[in-house]
Order: sequence, then C-alpha cells, then structure tokens
Amino acid sequence: MNIQRPRPNVATPNDLDAFWMPFTANRAFKARPRMLAGAKDMHYFTTDGRNILDGAAGMWCSNAGHSRDPIVSAIQKQAATLDYAPPFQFGHPQAFELASRIAALAPKGLEHVFFCNSGSEAVDTALKVALAYHNGRGEAGRTRLIGRERGYHGVGFGGISVGGMVNNRKMFGTLLTGVDHLPSTYDREKQAFTKGEPEYGAHFADELERIAGIHGPGTIAAVIVEPMAGSTGVLATPKGYLKRLREICDKHGILLIFDEVITGYGRLGYAFAAERYGVLPDMITFAKGVTNGAVPMGGVLVRDAIYDSFMKGPDHVIELFHGYTYSAHPLACAAGLATLDVYRDEGLFERAKALEPKWADAVMELRKEPNVVDIRTVGITAGIDLAPNKDGPGKRGFEALDSAFHDHDLMIRVAGDTLCLTPPLIISESQVGEIMDKIAKVIRAVA
Ligand code: PMP
Repeated sequence: MNIQRPRPNVATPNDLDAFWMPFTANRAFKARPRMLAGAKDMHYFTTDGRNILDGAAGMWCSNAGHSRDPIVSAIQKQAATLDYAPPFQFGHPQAFELASRIAALAPKGLEHVFFCNSGSEAVDTALKVALAYHNGRGEAGRTRLIGRERGYHGVGFGGISVGGMVNNRKMFGTLLTGVDHLPSTYDREKQAFTKGEPEYGAHFADELERIAGIHGPGTIAAVIVEPMAGSTGVLATPKGYLKRLREICDKHGILLIFDEVITGYGRLGYAFAAERYGVLPDMITFAKGVTNGAVPMGGVLVRDAIYDSFMKGPDHVIELFHGYTYSAHPLACAAGLATLDVYRDEGLFERAKALEPKWADAVMELRKEPNVVDIRTVGITAGIDLAPNKDGPGKRGFEALDSAFHDHDLMIRVAGDTLCLTPPLIISESQVGEIMDKIAKVIRAVA
C-alpha cells in the first residue's frame, strides 16, 4: 500500500512538562511519550517512524480520513484571504453558506445553526437555548435539565452536569442544580452481542414520566441524550426508545436535544442519526465530523419554532446573549464546506450504510477471542467489552491501548474495559480485516 510518509526530522522536545495534557495520565505518558508527526488517509505516522492504522478516526472526528487535499487547500486559501472575522455584528459569506449546507443535510424542520468551537460548547449552547426559549415564552419555571447515566456531553459545567460519567463529575463540586438523569439503556444480560439497536430497552424512556411526575412536568426545560452513547462504550439506543422519549417530551412541552457530536456526519450511515431513527429532536448538537477534525468547530441545529421565538422582538435588540469569539471562524467554515463536499462527492454516508453489515460481521468474529464478554456494533462503530482483569473493573484500559498502539500499530480508543472502534468511513474492506486481526492479537496478548 502506498502510504505517504510525513516530513522527516520531527524531533521530540526535551521538556514535556510545560504541556499539561488533557484526559491523559501525564506522568505515565511523559515516561513513554507517543508523538504523532503526520497523518494521511487511514494512517498516522509517529516521530519514531511507525505507521499507525487509524481505527478511531483520530477521536471520532476524521470521517473522511486524514489530511485530505481539498480540505487542506480550502483551509490554506481561507487563511490567506480572511483569516479571522469578528462574529458579533459582522458576518462572512462562508458562515451563511455552511449553515445552509448543514441545515440541508439535517432532517426537515431543523433549519438554523448556531456555531461554536467544540462539542462541549455545543452542548452548553443547546442547554442555554432551551432555558432562554422557555423563559422568553413566559415559562421561566422550566429550568430542570435531564441527562442520562453513562451519557457524555463534554466538559463544560452544563455538559458534566447532564453527563453521566462519574469520573468527569466527582472532582468538581455540586455542578448545576436541578438536573436529573435517565437510566442507562444498557443491559448486558438482555442485549449482549447485538448488531445495531437492541430489541430490549425502549421502556427505559418511561423514566422521564416518573421524573416529570416527581417535579411537575412544567419544571423541565430539556432532555439531552446521545442517539448512540459513544464515549461510554458504544451503546446504541434500543429500538423505539427515542420515539418514546419524543412522545413524552411532546406531551409535557419538554425540548428534546440529540447530542450528535459523534453520530453526526455519517458515522451511523446517515448525515444525522435522527434520520436513522426517524425521530425529530428540537435541537441537534454537532462537532468533530463537521470539519473532519481539521479545524475545531461545533454547532447546534435548532428547529424553526425555537429560532422564530427569538426573532419576534424589536429588531435592534440582541435576541440571545450568547456567543464565542471564534463562532463561525473563517478557517473552520472553509474546512466545513470542503469537508461536506468530500462527504458528498465520495458518498461517504451511503458508503458507511452499505458497509455496516460486513463491518458488524467482521467485528462479531472477535467474540471467540478470550475475555470478550460483549460486542456492540451500530453504523461504523464497535464497542468490545473485555472481562475485568485482576486490577478490577476498568483498570485494564491503558495496558490494552498501550499494547495495541505500540506493538500492533493500531489506534483505538479505550473506555475502561471497552475497546471502541470508529475508523474513518473511507476504510477499505481489507483494512477492516487488518483492524480485526490486530485487535484479536491485542486481546490475546492482554488475556
Ligand atoms: N458530546 C459528545 C456526545 C461527545 O462524544 C463529545 C466528545 N467526545 C462531546 C460532546 C464533547 O466534545 P468536545 O471534546 O469537542 O468538547
């Protein structure tokens, strides 16, 4: 295979302590650093000359593979033309064009886009829009926010409050008050080794009725869920679950937000997972795939009724006191437009949909490997659960990642005892096989 190598002479710096790395065991990393020097299509290249097969699309970002020429040129051209534009009281054409292109991809009814710079900002924006929407309609008492156990919604205070990952919450005090959590929809006993959406579990949505009953439905502003919980191990929502949530939200005037930071832009074979599930949320948060990961960008798609409710006051008054210095950044917009062209021209969403059955079969083959206690697949994703080792639940992860990366030149994401796979959607069938071979070897090595 013709793998383009990065420019040589990318040295590892001597002092690694100035950079406090995010979500990383800094001391372990710095004792044994792993440095990426380049990337092209399905591969990363390290400073010590390895070619790493990307089984993670970086971090669920690069759906079209890495350093794609049209995206690179669009960013270069934009940087040389309009490098930065203040987003308050000024616009630039690419921002409006990108918003229209994204709205055209979204389910009908979600027609407006608020831009920000990350998934975390998208989540906090959506939660704030929900609160401001109710407030503006004279329902200021609707302040309660509902998330889900094992949900991940980024690291803003809003996101960790509605998120359901203990480690992301426990260091940070009381967080937002007035937050409840739906139960996780995962039940290994009833759902193990499911391809696609589990048959069992739509009833987990009914917990929303119970929560509404406790507090009074008129106190709840919004519910936020991922159509497929990615960071906590690839947990597809059960068949009928999202429809049921939609019905309960409709009944009680609660807004429904889908966090599609991972599931957006083709990961589940559709532009947005909302389309796969035939459920129209009131807002969709997105990030990652919108620019193929090349420039940070996030955003919130909102329904007409929400947007319109902010547009009805006097036209010289700011409608929503919210925004970021880098909202709709020109480089991100240029990257976004070029990315959407690549997705369209290469038919990558359709490709993902067509590949899903073969992908699922290939991943399920791993069930015969030692210690594999569950495998889940949906779209071009997979979560492979290993039985906890002697160190206890969730303690195996770093070793598995380490060994996969170093010994077998494969990049995957590890969440506790779960190996998460989300390769770029340009992956070939032989590369699917290559990933599975490497995973099998790693699983045997850590057994
Ligand atoms: N929401 C979901 C569903 C995510 O998966 C992530 C990131 N993995 C985020 C929000 C946060 O995105 P970011 O890291 O860009 O802030």
